[in-house]
Amino acid sequence: MADNTHLLLRSNLKQLKLPTMGAEFEKLAREAAAANEVYEQYLLRLTELEVAARSANAVHTRIKSAGFPVLKDFDTFDFTAVPSLSKPKVLELARGEWISERSNACLIGSPGTGKTHVAVALGLAACRQGKRVRFVTAGALVTQLEEAQKRYQLDRVLAQLDRLDLLICDELGYLSFSRAGAELLFQVFADRYERRSLLVTSNLAFSEWNQVFQGERMTAALLDRLTHRCQIFEMNGESFRFRESMKSKKNRKADADKN
Ligand code: ADP
Ligand code: MG
Repeated sequence: MADNTHLLLRSNLKQLKLPTMGAEFEKLAREAAAANEVYEQYLLRLTELEVAARSANAVHTRIKSAGFPVLKDFDTFDFTAVPSLSKPKVLELARGEWISERSNACLIGSPGTGKTHVAVALGLAACRQGKRVRFVTAGALVTQLEEAQKRYQLDRVLAQLDRLDLLICDELGYLSFSRAGAELLFQVFADRYERRSLLVTSNLAFSEWNQVFQGERMTAALLDRLTHRCQIFEMNGESFRFRESMKSKKNRKADADKN
């Protein structure tokens, strides 16, 4: 085919914002000619590539904007290390129906038991399903809300949070908040009730949440909304970090003894 046609085609595809088609049409055309494909088959294969590239890009963008602290998935999570956690139930959650149903999930357990790891893996699964996700620690969220309030931008920040299909609020309980901070967090949680999903991780049992939210009335009101339609996972046991560091210490000692 004349070079001119290729140039024009490339320019049209660029103008139409179809970069993958632009990059692939020549190769695919050669293959189609060699295989005697009909025109529609060629066009179909070419558009399929564009569609696939777009959805991969969209997933990538959603993962980036979710703000995960690390990218950890279920393939590196050892469920046998946390017998209290039901693998089938967690994998069921990873299918994302709970987010479409606007219900919640809580991961409760001592430090190092994999709460953040599982929360990130669930968030990644949701991103891949086309959901808008944001991962934030409770402390950072409260700081963000307080600062927004000071700048008279609270409504804007709340509206942004409201657009998320899933808000992951990690590490509730490590820091306690001022009364005003706790009220702002309460507002976010209460706003999402039955409208948007929330995933909370905490080292505190529910009975201890009033340490964070100051005041039994607010805690009770919050827990009532959060747990109304909520899957609760208890992740108790020895700290994975601790266990790993003991293991490597033991290995180092064994190596030293060998030498
Ligand atoms: P938590 O949030 O409960 O304090 P993390 O999720 O941060 O715990 O886990 C601590 C570290 O141990 C992370 O690097 C995490 O990937 C790892 N980890 C924890 N539990 C497991 C597990 N069951 N399988 C694999 N890695 C784990
Ligand atoms: Mg954590």
